[in-house]
Amino acid sequence: MRIVAKDLTYTYNPKSPFASQALKGVDIVIEEGEFFGIIGHTGSGKSTFVQHLNALIKLTGGSLTVGDYDLSDKKCKFLELRSKVGMVFQYPEYQLFAETVEKDVMFGLKNFHKGMAEEEMKAAVKEAIGRVDLDYEDVKDKSPFELSGGQRRRVAIAGVIVTRPEILILDEPAAGLDPLGKKEIMQLLHAIHGSWCKTVVIVSHDMDEIAENCTRAAVFSEGKVVMEDTPAEIFKRSDELISLGLDIPVTAKCARVMKERGIEIDTDFTCDDFIAKTLALWKGQGGGNAQ
Ligand code: ADP
Ligand code: MG
Repeated sequence: MRIVAKDLTYTYNPKSPFASQALKGVDIVIEEGEFFGIIGHTGSGKSTFVQHLNALIKLTGGSLTVGDYDLSDKKCKFLELRSKVGMVFQYPEYQLFAETVEKDVMFGLKNFHKGMAEEEMKAAVKEAIGRVDLDYEDVKDKSPFELSGGQRRRVAIAGVIVTRPEILILDEPAAGLDPLGKKEIMQLLHAIHGSWCKTVVIVSHDMDEIAENCTRAAVFSEGKVVMEDTPAEIFKRSDELISLGLDIPVTAKCARVMKERGIEIDTDFTCDDFIAKTLALWKGQGGGNAQ
């Protein structure tokens, strides 16, 4: 399912003294199969935008289609859409509430498939818990509160992918985790992308995460998309990102320092590529113990 937004606008509390226009004409296309990143300052409209994609926020201005679903159409099958576009909120582990992990994950399924047989549901729940790399037998009867923070986040993700959404959206999936936890979550999302959900969309303020993981990304600023491209092209424009008050990946920071010294590296800004290109250049110039 392809996502196409045109001139999307949204105002919170319209017609009140507290009106705040969060989206000011967002144009964006996310192709099926992408691992898409959404970057931007706090308050730039990222969360407001992604909540439109499964109609948690109803369209009030502009147009939005997700596959064949036209979200401007009042007759759009919103419940069906929500089962195909899964949304994992920021810190989703705080929204777990059932007594057991199994019941929590099943809750997501019951909402959408009321007629599904109990056995079939249990099988789907078991598969989803396995997919997030948790041991089903070990965790199914535990309270979510007995698990670690990282495990709880996995349970929350299982509760969303259990409906087998085609598109999985995650708002800051790695926020608040330690470096290893962040790496594991990103690895998990790639595994889900390869085997379970065709398209993954992540909101992130971590530029290294975007450089390392995304096929393409969009930069939000003040309710608009100001760049939409591959991370390699976006991070070439580091001056513009900095002037927007955004951070850049550590590889882009190094590239800037090297450029000041007259050395240009043609890199996609992933760490592996940056190191390989730097080493190749260094060896070519007889650096180190060249063999
Ligand atoms: P981001 O996710 O990029 O931080 P948001 O989409 O949350 O941005 O917010 C965009 C703008 O909308 C901000 O100015 C924010 O203050 C405002 N906003 C977000 N949520 C609400 C809300 N529930 N009520 C009123 N204003 C809101
Ligand atoms: Mg947000």
